[in-house]
Amino acid sequence: MEGASVNSYDVVVIGAGVIGSSVAFHLAKFGAKSVLVLDRGNIGAGTTSQSSGILRTHYSVRENVELARQSWAVFNDFARYLGDEEASCGLVKCGYMIVSPEGDKLEPLRASLKQQQDQGIPLELLDRKQAKELLPIAQFEDAALIGYEPEAGFADAYLVATSFARAARRGGVTIRENAEVHKVLIENGKVVGVSTSIGDFATPMVISTQNIWTPELAGWTGRSLPVVPERHAVLALECNEAKYTYSMPVFKDLGSPGMLYCRSYGGSQMLVSEGIVGEKLQTAEIEQGDIPMDYIVEVGAQVAERFPNYETAGIASSWTGVYDVTPDWNPVLGKLSGIEGLVVGYGFSGHGFKLSPTVGRVLAQEALGLPTDVSLQPYAIERFETGDLLTGKYGLGAVS
Ligand SMILES: Cc1cc2nc3c(=O)[nH]c(=O)nc-3n(C[C@H](O)[C@H](O)[C@H](O)COP(=O)(O)OP(=O)(O)OC[C@H]3O[C@@H](n4cnc5c(N)ncnc54)[C@H](O)[C@@H]3O)c2cc1C
Repeated sequence: MEGASVNSYDVVVIGAGVIGSSVAFHLAKFGAKSVLVLDRGNIGAGTTSQSSGILRTHYSVRENVELARQSWAVFNDFARYLGDEEASCGLVKCGYMIVSPEGDKLEPLRASLKQQQDQGIPLELLDRKQAKELLPIAQFEDAALIGYEPEAGFADAYLVATSFARAARRGGVTIRENAEVHKVLIENGKVVGVSTSIGDFATPMVISTQNIWTPELAGWTGRSLPVVPERHAVLALECNEAKYTYSMPVFKDLGSPGMLYCRSYGGSQMLVSEGIVGEKLQTAEIEQGDIPMDYIVEVGAQVAERFPNYETAGIASSWTGVYDVTPDWNPVLGKLSGIEGLVVGYGFSGHGFKLSPTVGRVLAQEALGLPTDVSLQPYAIERFETGDLLTGKYGLGAVS
């Protein structure tokens, strides 16, 4: 099944979200000669298009800090990294502020900030006055600890996916949209190809970046690949009295019941969402869900606690998006043991965009048999059997 046939590729990538597109770009960057990417929809149109786009290195899991730090360097120098001076990821470098009051989040925050500093992340501890100068629309009366990361902000996940895909194509990668993979073909424990809606392709290496659709891969391989689709709501609030401008940092409020995250949404709007468990779905689907008025009122009240002028804010728009949540809210990255030629990258649990450049890079390295820039061992699927979960200082849950 080898050779130069158009039906034969060195590597096939399933999924062209921000992760699959990044993998494709990096495969080309590392010199892979024949790469095929298949997506049943369009590039970036899966869960990537629903992302809030926040970029920061604040994590309590040390390994995530490293993935995020290396990824930030890419976002911060995107055009050069892609070799296209016109490429943009829509980066707004406004910084990231995280606040905890007295209580159970205080010590985990302190320990996480200390760990970040030990890892060499530029980080400042602010007093309330300094915080107010950076984010004048908020009040900080309850704040016991305030961390500020100047090298952070937000970008556009859809733009990043399409930019990686375009650069991958320039590097010789074939990307086929509206092409659904029906099965990974495995013979004697080795990947030999994929069966798809546009025909069969021979390949010795498949990289699955299927996000909430990873259970399909579990079915094809008979392997347990735990992941739950979880729907989350995002609101854009409008408040002319207290505009959330691009110069104001992304804000994480560990003191609010929903552990809100907020950022500017341009104009006079604030993007806000809860950082807690969402609505578990029975099936993998990304159709828009209902956002009950009670929920909007409840989130609005939490926002108004921190941003007093938002008491009278209106709702400008809203949408829902789906996370691919694993048992420890961290991704699975690497080979699936026992099946030669299969690499997976899924389970980003609501925080995969900020990791996508480095995740794409290390998955490409893993598939090509190169040393990975960051060890994939902590992200191995086996951890769900051994119980050696990737849990940080905040404990098991939505804050990693
Ligand atoms: C509401 C929301 C807010 C978020 N906010 C942030 C944030 O602020 N910061 C951050 O870092 N992250 C955030 N995330 C997470 C981040 O956006 C995701 O982790 C990331 O976009 C996932 O990319 P992906 O490539 O894994 O998945 P997707 O974009 O879903 O791509 C998977 C692709 O696989 C394709 N596919 C699946 N099965 C098949 C098949 N059998 N055949 C062909 N194609 C197939 C699908 O069509 C899809 O295009 C957020 C996510 C959501 C939903």
